Amino acid sequence: MSVPSTWRNKKYRYRLEASKCTSCGKAFLPARMVCPECGSKDFEPTVLPDKGKILTYSIVHVGTEQTQFDVPYVIAVIELDNGTRLTTQVVDTGDKEVKIGTPVKLVFRKINIDGKTGVLGYGYKAVLE
Ligand code: ZN
Repeated sequence: MSVPSTWRNKKYRYRLEASKCTSCGKAFLPARMVCPECGSKDFEPTVLPDKGKILTYSIVHVGTEQTQFDVPYVIAVIELDNGTRLTTQVVDTGDKEVKIGTPVKLVFRKINIDGKTGVLGYGYKAVLE
């Protein structure tokens, strides 16, 4: 199966890019309209590090319509090396145990299937280091 050209053309969208508050320097993913730290509305794009650690996690046994193809799965809050936190799925855990503090790396993966169109969404997931 070939990768749809629309996906190839829009690949730049899938860099791990967050918005960084120009006032206090905190980065947010997903982007915020107003900085929850300092109230500023001025942001600039920033590329995030792809490494971090698990802050907390939970195991999901019942997926939504969009994610049911791979239950059970692990959803974790990851703290990246620059302190930015994001919630994402942890994949390819194999026999390794998912624990708080486990180092992870973000990888580009299939995220969900649109129930109506069958279109795949892509984005970042975490793998254990
Ligand atoms: Zn701020």
